[in-house]
Amino acid sequence: MNKYTIRKLIVAAGLVAVVGGAGFGVYKTYSFISNSIEQKKAENIRIEEEKARIAKEEEAKRLEEEEKARKKIGVGPNGEAYAYDAKLVWDKLSKYDYSNNGEKIAFLTFDDGPSTTVTPKILDTLKKHDVKGTFFIVGSQLENDASKELLKQAYDEGHAIANHSYSHDYKKLYPNRTLNLANFMDDINKTEKAIQGVLGENFSTNVVRCPGGFMSWKGMDELKTEFESKGMASIDWSSLNGDAEGRKKSPQELLQRAKSTVEGKELAVILMHDTYGKENTAAMLDELITYLKSEGYSFKTLV
Ligand SMILES: [Zn+2]
Repeated sequence: MNKYTIRKLIVAAGLVAVVGGAGFGVYKTYSFISNSIEQKKAENIRIEEEKARIAKEEEAKRLEEEEKARKKIGVGPNGEAYAYDAKLVWDKLSKYDYSNNGEKIAFLTFDDGPSTTVTPKILDTLKKHDVKGTFFIVGSQLENDASKELLKQAYDEGHAIANHSYSHDYKKLYPNRTLNLANFMDDINKTEKAIQGVLGENFSTNVVRCPGGFMSWKGMDELKTEFESKGMASIDWSSLNGDAEGRKKSPQELLQRAKSTVEGKELAVILMHDTYGKENTAAMLDELITYLKSEGYSFKTLV
């Protein structure tokens, strides 16, 4: 190999190094750019996915709130804070268990109304004491406009609205003292519709008081199964003022009967009536509430 050839080889090697180096640089630059494009794309996809997830969550939340606004179960917006789970109370009452871990709760319940002679006074007294009660409505009582207005007032003032059948007719509901499930549910549905006619389609109640009381009739296991499958509750009572027992009683007699049946019970579900002829119940309610407050009871509604 002569000097001339060696020089050519050196030049060639130099060229290879320069061209190769440049090529490698171009390749590196190219792959750097393409990698960052890929990264950018992946980042964009991630952002889009996150946006879609948030939008989906917001939509679900909106639908849930819409559903909540649509359905008013048992109470209106002013009554939600006083609502107590009627199913728990049903369970307790059916075992004759009136204990509640030391916490005293009174449920003032009014059956068979509304009436124009008793319900307005009861609503006034409840308002005066800032106390809420539960009204077990008889559907047939809603056939006149004055009663419809009273139902609306009770609902607007935060009281719970519950179902006490349409006809209140023992012969229809329990022929031969035995439940007729079809007749019974027909009556319950009719009252639900009558209440919706006043409070709007969004309203429904899951709370029922069986006319005469759940415990008084035969064949009621069938109704229990029906109610349980529909998330409904049947509420009897643990206490009463006796306004539907025997001869007509004075306000003081009603008060004494209520006090004696409340005594010793942490859960006092007090049966009273706000239908025609029960004016003395309206007259004794003020003193009863004062007494219950002094005994340390708080007041809840059945929902
Ligand atoms: Zn009744």
